Amino acid sequence: MADPDPPFDAERFRTEARAVVDWIADYWQTVEDRPVQSQVEPGWVRSQLPAAAPESPEPLAAVLADLDRVIVPGLTHWQHPGFFAYFPANASGPSILGELLTAGLGVQGMLWATSPACTELETLALDWLRDLLGLPDRFASTAAGGGVIQDSASSGMLCVTVAARERATARSGNERGVRQSETTLCIYTSEDAHSSVEKAATIAGIGREWVRRIRTDADGRMDAAALADALRHDAAAGRVPCLVVATVGTTASGAFDPVPQIAAAAAEYDAWLHVDAAWAGAAAICPEFRAPIVAGAASAHSWGFNPHKWLLVNFDCHALWLADRGDLVRALAVKPEYLRTTAGDSGAVIDYSDWQVPLGRRFRALKLWMTLRMIGAESLRRRIRDHVEWTGEFAALVAADPRLELLRKPSLSLACFASAAGDDATRSLLERVNRSGTVFLSHARVAGRLAARLAVGGTLTERRHVEAAWQAVDAAADGRLPGGPPTA
Ligand code: PLP
Repeated sequence: MADPDPPFDAERFRTEARAVVDWIADYWQTVEDRPVQSQVEPGWVRSQLPAAAPESPEPLAAVLADLDRVIVPGLTHWQHPGFFAYFPANASGPSILGELLTAGLGVQGMLWATSPACTELETLALDWLRDLLGLPDRFASTAAGGGVIQDSASSGMLCVTVAARERATARSGNERGVRQSETTLCIYTSEDAHSSVEKAATIAGIGREWVRRIRTDADGRMDAAALADALRHDAAAGRVPCLVVATVGTTASGAFDPVPQIAAAAAEYDAWLHVDAAWAGAAAICPEFRAPIVAGAASAHSWGFNPHKWLLVNFDCHALWLADRGDLVRALAVKPEYLRTTAGDSGAVIDYSDWQVPLGRRFRALKLWMTLRMIGAESLRRRIRDHVEWTGEFAALVAADPRLELLRKPSLSLACFASAAGDDATRSLLERVNRSGTVFLSHARVAGRLAARLAVGGTLTERRHVEAAWQAVDAAADGRLPGGPPTA
């Protein structure tokens, strides 16, 4: 008789892991046939599953059956080739194999000594990536700088905000608390910057009130003269400009702030300059897109982007570089006895827990390294070029159509457009397109208008899917697609 409860040993793992990998491969092969957005009502997923955890082990087959029956219908399929919403979170085979190895190895790389390869591969992979992007040498680990992988751009922003706060207060924030430091610190960013700037300001104790949202021009770029005015005004009032955050590729419309001018204004007040290139940064691997992305980086104290958006590394993976790693380490390092090691004390190694908020850390570098090795830079470039080209084709169709309005020149692979008949018509167009189930677009406010956003970047997306997005928009603009919001 078969053992009803076989141990989960290496042999069982070998068999069942194969079944799971097969399941994932089947999912990729069929994801296109599913509606991009989940169609379930709120609470449906929970209602389909038992209220309490099982006492006895259940077989993998039962779990996979529930995955098919309940979980998959409750998903919005981010890897669907018709997913054009937000920014992509694209994944790839090599990256997922790296993720699997990370879980299988189960190492915890908080210190160099807790797993030297975890630390050294991360430093190497980020040096490779810095080189591919054409970022300045000062961000290299061989100079005073270096890179670190964070879970997300928001975490990177928080670390940078704390480092900038400590630099501006000669580290009194850490010692006596921000309120006691008797200094009002200010942060400057554009009105179109990502909400993570505000979140970091609140968590770092600087306060939302002191985040100066600098106005943007007609193209969504921070107005550098308005920034200079704001800096001057605060300094004259005795406040301390602590951090300036420039965005290269804003979330709403992909606008590029004028980083060189912003850097000059920030330098006058010795404020930290961080460049948030979360989405657009990946395109710097293509020499023809690089110049505006890395412009001004030589004057930045930190620069970050998400390989998990547009570089085929599955979520999560944020790459953050510092010009002076000491700034970050001085702000974040806490070293009780149990975290001290001979290697760490020698200063000859990196202890990456000193570069982030949590102590523990996953071996994320494996998936980045495997993606770079197994896909290769040229193939990564080709995909980005394709996405930019297809977006240009889509934007040209929009621009030529009197029912629609292209709100801004497309930025790389992001196109923002609207119905010429106004916001209500744009909302209705989006509802019709998204209800089709073949395409998912998201929205934003661009130049005061409700905008439909098409962000191309999916791993499985081909030109025909972008063409299908245009056909859906065309049909929706004519009322040939049924209206009403998607059910989710
Ligand atoms: N910065 C920009 C410009 C973004 O567009 C986003 C997200 O889309 C973020 C930061 C936050 O990214 P994350 O989800 O990695 O925190």
